Amino acid sequence: MAESSTADYIFKIVLTGDSGVGKSSLLSRFTRNEFSLESRSTIGVEFSTKEVQVDGKTIKVQIWDTAGQERFMAITKAYYRNALGALVVFDMLKASTFQNLDQWYNEVRANAGIDCSVILVGNKVDQRHIRAVLSEDAKRYADERNIQYIETSALDATNVEQAFRSLIADIYRNWA
Ligand code: GDP
Ligand code: MG
Repeated sequence: MAESSTADYIFKIVLTGDSGVGKSSLLSRFTRNEFSLESRSTIGVEFSTKEVQVDGKTIKVQIWDTAGQERFMAITKAYYRNALGALVVFDMLKASTFQNLDQWYNEVRANAGIDCSVILVGNKVDQRHIRAVLSEDAKRYADERNIQYIETSALDATNVEQAFRSLIADIYRNWA
């Protein structure tokens, strides 16, 4: 079935960060408003798309999710190619996912390029009473790299829309 796209722009965005931080959950919350407590490895699906309006323009965002390769630190360069934006995600309940950020951040910079818009996302804020990473530390990490920081919950939807929208707006300012 042919479907004519009416989008004014197409932006590729990638999700990156340790396994289990909630990348696939953020994606399904944003694109389908769904959440499942079961962790299912993404199989087959390369990306999901969603159309958003910015400044009266229709932007089709193509959001790439990993199929579990991040467990082996083996995300390919092709994953990042031509990405205009990246959500670098950590799990605020698990310090090691914050300590591993450099690796993901550097990989984005090396493969998507210096102009790629990046937002740092601390996910699972619905469980903030057992958080292992302080907001101040995450904020400092983001400030040092001149990127935004936002705390989200794919479970209760806190700031998920805002995280994607703020990244998309940033890309729009850079490219459109
Ligand atoms: P991925 O490996 O980064 O894609 O992570 P998943 O999206 O598969 O999520 C890993 C686990 O964390 C799953 O059991 C999810 O249900 C859970 N999870 C994801 N996001 C949240 C959240 O915002 N809050 C809570 N409490 N759990 C979450
Ligand atoms: Mg996943």
